[in-house]
Amino acid sequence: MIDEKTCQKMFQVADEALKYAYPNGKGFAVAVLTKKGNIYPGASYKSDTYTLTMHSEAVALSHAATHGETEIMAITGPNCHICKQLIYENSLRSGIDVLIILKENGEFKQIPISRLMPYPWPEKPTEKINEKF
Ligand SMILES: [Zn+2]
Repeated sequence: MIDEKTCQKMFQVADEALKYAYPNGKGFAVAVLTKKGNIYPGASYKSDTYTLTMHSEAVALSHAATHGETEIMAITGPNCHICKQLIYENSLRSGIDVLIILKENGEFKQIPISRLMPYPWPEKPTEKINEKF
């Protein structure tokens, strides 16, 4: 479990990043907590095609990865189902059951990604996935 102070910091970092959501500070922002204890924000980047829009979760995971940190302990939520898949795949590769941190009625709730993926694909890391990426 992540301590309350860290959860608060994660939401603070996400809230601050929201002004960078593209365009015009409109969209979404999240923050990830890495195994090293660093927090990286991600803000959504909208495309007029919609298909090319980058969700804040993907941006945050990539932000951490560009700092050499792919072991994610937690991410702020809620997250859309596409992003849950991305978080789940990160979890499969790292072996860490990433915690989704939700703020509900002023309190933090921490839910492991495995609980949000009852019938996941893939069930476990496949050689095919690991060889290609
Ligand atoms: Zn998403």
